[in-house]
Formats: sequence, C-alpha cells, structure tokens
Amino acid sequence: MTDQSKDKSFFGHPKGLQTLFMTEMWERMSYYGMRGILVLFMTAALQEGGLGLTAATAAAIYGLYTSSVYFMGLPGGWIADRLIGGQKAIWYGGIIIMCGHIVLAIPNEGSFFIGLILVALGTGLLKPNITAVVGQLYSSEDERRDAGYSIYYMGINIGSLIGYFVCGYLMENAGWHWAFGAAAVGMALGLIQFYLTNKNLPAVSAKPSVEISESARKKSWVGIGIFLVGVAIVTALTLAGTISINAVSLAQQTAIVLTATFFIFFAIIFFRGNLNQVEKKGMWALLLICVASACFWSGFEQAGSSLNLFTRDYTDRFIGSFEIPTTWFQSVNSAFIILLTPFFAAFWIKLGQRMVTPGYGLKMAVGLIIMGSGFIVMIFAAQVAAGGGKSAAFYLILTYFLHTVGELCLSPIALSAVSKLSPRRYMGQMMGLFVFTYSIGNIIAGLMAGKFDPNNVAEMPSLFQFIATFSIGVGAVVLLIGMFTKKWEQEVVESKEGEDA
Ligand code: GLN
Repeated sequence: MTDQSKDKSFFGHPKGLQTLFMTEMWERMSYYGMRGILVLFMTAALQEGGLGLTAATAAAIYGLYTSSVYFMGLPGGWIADRLIGGQKAIWYGGIIIMCGHIVLAIPNEGSFFIGLILVALGTGLLKPNITAVVGQLYSSEDERRDAGYSIYYMGINIGSLIGYFVCGYLMENAGWHWAFGAAAVGMALGLIQFYLTNKNLPAVSAKPSVEISESARKKSWVGIGIFLVGVAIVTALTLAGTISINAVSLAQQTAIVLTATFFIFFAIIFFRGNLNQVEKKGMWALLLICVASACFWSGFEQAGSSLNLFTRDYTDRFIGSFEIPTTWFQSVNSAFIILLTPFFAAFWIKLGQRMVTPGYGLKMAVGLIIMGSGFIVMIFAAQVAAGGGKSAAFYLILTYFLHTVGELCLSPIALSAVSKLSPRRYMGQMMGLFVFTYSIGNIIAGLMAGKFDPNNVAEMPSLFQFIATFSIGVGAVVLLIGMFTKKWEQEVVESKEGEDA
C-alpha cells in the first residue's frame, strides 16, 4: 500500500483518483449519451423505430427515470456501508448498468423499460459509492480534497461530452439501438480499467464501514431480495397491462414522496445514529448543503427541458447558412466545465494560500445566485421571443456559462463537503442522501418545466423570472445560515483530525 498523503502520481493526487476518474468518466459517458437521446427516442414515431409516445408522457418518464437513477443512491450507499463496501458496490453497479444498456440495445418496447430499471439500480450502487471513495483518498487534513473532487468532476464532464457526441452521432447515422449499444461499450471500458487498476484504491473502501451481526446481515439481504422481487412483479404487471401507470401524475406525487423520504432518512441518521455533539453539528451543516443542492438542480436541470425547447423554437441558431443542431447546446455545459475547472482549482488554492477559506454555505450560496442570474439573462431572451423575434444564441451561451460557473462553485465543492463532514461510518449513506438531492432537483425541474408551454411565448419571461427569483432568494438565505454553520464545519474537521492523530 502506498502512503496516499505522499502519492502525487495523478496530477499531484493519489493514483487511486485516476482509477475513479476513468471509471466515472465511462459511466457518465454511458449515462449522458443514452439520456441525451432518450426523449427523442420515446417521442419518435413507431415507423422511425421510436416508441411513438406523446411529449408529455415522454417528459414524465424522463423525469421519473432521471430521478430514480439518483433516488436509488440511498439504498446503494446503505448496501455499501453495511454489506459489501464501496469497491464491490462500484464493480457490481457498473455490471448492472452495462447489462441495462445491453438490454436497451435490443429493439423491443418491453425490454426498453427493463433496461431503464437496470441502469437506475446499477447507478444507485455505483454513483454515491464511487463519489465517497474519492473522499477516502484524502486524510482529514489533506488540503488536496477540494481540488481532487474538481478533477473528478472534470472526468464526469469529459465522459458526458464523449457520450453526447458518440451516441448522438450513432443515433443519426446508424440507428437508436446502436447508440444504446455504444453506451454499453462505454460502461464495459470503465469496468475493464476498474478491474485492472482497483489495487490503487484505499483499503477502507474494500470492506463495509459498519459492523453488523450475522442475523442483521441476513435480514438485510432478505429485504433487498423482497424489494427486487417487488420491482420485478410491478414491471411484469405493467408490461402485461394488468396495472396501468399514469406517468404524469406519478411524477407529481413522486416529488412529494422524495422530499418526505429525504427528511425521514436524515432524521433517522440524526436521531438514531448514535452521533456525538460534533457529528450532529456536521449534520446541520450538511442539511444546509443538501437543501442548496436540491434547489440548485431544480433550476439547473431546465437545460434538458424548457431551455432545450427554447433553443429549438426561439433561438436563431444560424451561423451563416449553417444551422447549429439543437442538441449541441446540451453539451455547452460539459465543455465549459472542462475549460473552467483548471481556473477554479487554481482559484481555490490561491484563496487557501491567502488564508481565505470561505465556508461551504458561502460557496453554495454563490453557486445558487450565479446560476439564478443565468435565468435573468433568459428573461431578456424570452422578451425578444415574446416580441415575435428569435433571440440570439449568445443569450443561451451566456446563460449556460453562468450556470456552469454556479455549478463549479456548488457541485464539486458539495461532494467534497459531504465526504469531509459526514460521520465516517455513514459515509456511503450520506453520499447516497446527497445524491438523492439530485433526484429531488430533477423531479422539481420537470414539474416546473411542465409549466413551460412552447406555444405560449408571452408567459416565458415570467417562468424564467420565477426561477431566477427562487434561486437567488434561496441563495441569500443559505448565505445567512452559512455564517453560523461555518463554525460547526471547522469543529467537525478539528475533531476528525484529532481522531486521525
Ligand atoms: N453532472 C453531475 C453528475 O453527473 C451532476 C448531475 C445532477 O443532475 N445533479 O454527477
């Protein structure tokens, strides 16, 4: 085992970061590549090889799918903490995801839904745990943690950029199922390199962090078995037409259930987790971060829905005689992340050197406010559209730029914060709970976008105004509360350093 505090073999970071970077890059290639064409596939006519669904049903299924992918992170983190450890969760999660994409590559409507379910189950196992293992590469006092998460976050976006282009290209030139197949190949590449290089990962990630009795272990596996059988029965009955699910109303109820689940789960760890006073303070700081994250993604995730429709219908996409395809705008965010990450990494280091260490609350607040200001730009763009014209592409690019700057202040930093402030024995579950805020954000984003009627231009400025006010308002509140939680964050770090010493 190499001493990770001295290991600087991957851009100044431990070698294990390279393993996690590459695995997550390929996983995200498969996720975003497939997600980018999902709504198009569902709404394409049957004779074009699609499913021929209405836009409303497709949008609801899309919202349910993207939120369940992240929803499953909660049980995924729990399974790693108690039963199998982070490394095995990543490995088996990746295998299930790959199987999901292979099933999606089979041209059949029934298998389509089975494929989606497999990807959601696999991502639930992989996503929170791979993110938690990144944090385990660094000791509590290792200052490279934030930068490590920024590098890892860059891997996510390199993967999504590859996915958008490869799957988008194959969809247009070879067919839907080739594009789904490419996602499976991407995940397979990720698995191969994980298998070959997982020896670089920290030993703690190889085993569960919570000790449980043999009977509790058995009960847990039985519970998982019952859950999986339940999922299989509901899927079979739905496919057979015995039960019918209205995707639109299900999406509405899901938003409420998800929010309630989040608070219940948080309360269980808080009150029943045998936490000491310092750990409890850390949990309050984390609650603030989670609320900021859910609100952030509910604005940000308009990219695939209302902003996407705005791009298609109300944006002048011509450069000379070339019309930029609507879908290309989806990858602007990933491209900006890749371009801006080095600047942000340097910026945080510079701040640290000057002994300016903003608390996590402040960074979350800045992220929300900058993202919200992106929607102010969209108010102007929508006014142009409401006046009967087409808005310049510049507005959207500026909006995505601001969204990306906001994302870089909030998202990788929040991952680092969760890995730093969570009680060690609940690391996987806390990361699962954090990934769960993506789920809440995605479903609320879908509901807000549902109010966006592409045929009612006059209403558009007010939708964007609402999102801007909401995000900036929440940002201001987070800023205020963050002044109190900063102290608690420091107490948690000091106490962990004490444990390490
Ligand atoms: N782009 C980030 C990721 O893929 C965040 C996703 C999200 O919807 N919150 O991990």
